[in-house]
Parts: sequence; C-alpha cells; structure tokens
Amino acid sequence: MTVTRFAPSPTGWLHIGNLRTALFNYLIARKTGGSFILRLDDTDQARSEEEYVDGIKADLDWLGLHWDRIERQSDRLDRYATAADSLRAAGRFYECFETPTELDLKRKKQLNMGRPPVYDRAALALDEAAREKLRAEGRQGYWRFELALERIEWEDGILGPLSIDAASVSDPVLIRADGQVLYTFASSVDDMDMGITHVVRGADHVTNTATQIQIIRAMGGTPPAFAHHSLLTGPQGEALSKRLGTLALRDLRAQGVAREALLSLLARLGSSQPVALRADLDEIAEGFDLSQFGAAPTKFDATDLWPLTRAHVQSLPLQAVANKLAEIGVPDTLAPAFWDVARENIDRLDDLAGWWALCRDGAAPEIAPEDADFVAQALALLPPPPYGPQTWAEWTAQVKAATGRKGKGLFMPLRKALTGRGDGPDMAALMPLLRRVRALEDAGG
Ligand code: GLU
Repeated sequence: MTVTRFAPSPTGWLHIGNLRTALFNYLIARKTGGSFILRLDDTDQARSEEEYVDGIKADLDWLGLHWDRIERQSDRLDRYATAADSLRAAGRFYECFETPTELDLKRKKQLNMGRPPVYDRAALALDEAAREKLRAEGRQGYWRFELALERIEWEDGILGPLSIDAASVSDPVLIRADGQVLYTFASSVDDMDMGITHVVRGADHVTNTATQIQIIRAMGGTPPAFAHHSLLTGPQGEALSKRLGTLALRDLRAQGVAREALLSLLARLGSSQPVALRADLDEIAEGFDLSQFGAAPTKFDATDLWPLTRAHVQSLPLQAVANKLAEIGVPDTLAPAFWDVARENIDRLDDLAGWWALCRDGAAPEIAPEDADFVAQALALLPPPPYGPQTWAEWTAQVKAATGRKGKGLFMPLRKALTGRGDGPDMAALMPLLRRVRALEDAGG
C-alpha cells in the first residue's frame, strides 16, 4: 500500500512551491488508492505557530487535498529520544561541542585551502574525560550522526539514478545543544515509523535524502522511494524564493484564482504534458505521471492562472454559482438570466458583483461630447425600465430611423450611455436585467 506525506513546517503560509510538493504526494496516493498523511514538522517551537497550522489545513481543505491522517512531530518527542538512544547504542551518534564560531572558522580554513567545508569529525576523537571537561567548562553538547563513508545511491523518481559520496557531506547534526530534534532526524524516524513508501520533495533536499537513507538504515528501517522535483523560478528564470511570500495560496485565493486553475497548472507545469484546465482532482490524477517531469528549473508565471481561472468560472453551471449570486443580492428569479449574460464577461467570480451593481443601480453614463446630441435624442425615445427581450432591437431601430446612424456609430454610444463602458454583455440580453438607467434619470426621464 502506498503511503505518502506532505510535511510542511508551520512557520509560514503555504505558497505555490509548497502546493507543488503537496499535490504530487497527494496524487501518487490517490492514483494508487493509498493514503496521504499531513505531517506538521513543528519541532522548531520558536518558529512554529498555531496560526500557520490552521492556515495550512484551511488551504489544503480549500484545494480539496484531503489528508487521511494528521501527525505532529511535537507529539512524538519521546519517540525521537528512543530513536536517538538506539543510534547511540549502534555507535552512530556522537556528541560535539564546537561553537558556531569555531565551526565557521574551520569552514573558512578549509575553503581557503581549496577543500570542501565538510565537518572534520574532531569530536569523534574525544574520550569521555575530554567530553566531561568540556561540559564542566559550560559547553552544551549536540549530536551528530556518523555517516558511513560510502557512496549513497538511489533511483530517483524524477532525477534518475543518483549517487552521492558520503565523504562530501558533513555528518548531520540531529539534536541541537538545547535538545531540539532537527528535521533531518525527526523526518527519518517518521518516514520509517509511518511506513512512508514514497517521498516527493524539492531538489533542495537531495543531500538530506542521502543522509536520511543512511539514518533510516542505521535504525533498521527501509528508506522510501525518493523523487525530487525541480524548484520553481519566476517567468525570467529568476529565483522565486524571495517572492514566494507574495505567492501565498491564501492571497491567490483572495485575488479570486480558482482552485481548479492552481491544481491544473501545478500538476502539469514542468512536465512533458500540456497544461489544460481539468475539472477535478480525479481528472488531474488520471494523467499524472511523475516520470514525465524534468530536472530543469520550472518557470512559473502567476499570470498563467488567469486564463485557467476564466475558463473554469465560465464553464460553471448555474447551480455552482447560485450561492455566489444570492450573496451579491441577485434575486432567484433573475439568477438564470443574469448568469447567462454575465458569465462571459468575468475573469473571476468576484467580477459578478460589478455586473450586478450595473443591473441594480445603473452606471454613470459615458457620453463623448460629439455624441451628446445623438444620445439625448436616443434617450428621448427610450422608456424607463423594466425592459423586455425586444427592447434593444426596437429602440435601436427607432433611433436609427430618427438619426440615420448605423453600425458601431449607432450602438457604441448607446452602450456607453447605458453601461458606462465600451465592453460587456450582449445589450439585447442585458436590457431586461437593467433596473435603472442613470442616463435617463440624468436626462429627467
Ligand atoms: N519540513 C520539511 C520542509 O518543509 C519537509 C521536507 C520533506 O518533505 O521531507 O522542507
């Protein structure tokens, strides 16, 4: 049975990059009838906040990425302590005492000598007496995992066969001097205990994967299958990391981006398959194939979400927007006609409110000086609302006969006088929905 997980740290709002990771893991579980775990990586108590936990859940709920189980690392600290004991017993865990400044100095020296800045394992040489002495000096020990110096290899679900020389990686710190269990460790224990079979995450985790494979094996577990998706960049290939704050899912949602647009785009972007609007997660899961994704950084342009959002909202049946229409005050009796008229003129559902305001309150007329006489003449021929389906045809025929204008010169000034703008729905269909025409009121009509 396939078990995947999405493991955000609740230290901020979910952004578009997180969505990619969440979606891939969700889709793998969904396609195989497996289960999908939401795991909150919250061992960093100083930076984790309940507000973000709620935000993560709300975003996933909105997207329809429902989890089968939720886990919190902060509930599992005892388990990590036991796991740490087992690594100590296996002789793979050692206590270190260097301060950050000392470590920094070591790194600089190594770099100066043209060597990779890999931890030199000085602490491994300390005996218990030496450690006691350091403790007595007031130094707090922290714990590193001793990597076996071999090549760590795996078949990556996206990047293909990977091989990392453990000697090129520092022994990872797994427990800090203040006792905080670090993600590298907690995640290994969890992936093992929770029977995670597949882990998809960003390419920035490749080195973590190498060390976690060894940690899981040292604890007697079997590492999951790993896949690393490329990182998203901006449209010009610029790093997105600094702008991710502006690409929070909650903000995109507030701007009116449809969830179907987000899911459809992120499930295919960076793969060899075309991006197209798909109606739901079943349809999205159907063609999803991890092996179709490439290693190259993936360009993400937030403006691509709008054509998809537009296509989605315009495709909605009346019943799907009924609540929205009621919310903005469209009476039930007018809802079908209003939706028919407005749907093709909106980019997002929130645009409906503007069209309804036009129908209900009318609009300040837009009348060019050279059209003023023409419009005044035309308005004199228009009775006040309500109007019927023939009103526009009959009225414009009368105006045409009276003024001799035709085509655009006839229709456009009338449209602008009635709606205050040059674009919008078919006037014949709009007229029966107009409850006020301010140009008429202005003209004393
Ligand atoms: N909390 C980690 C992160 O957000 C999880 C990485 C992983 O999937 O293992 O980067």
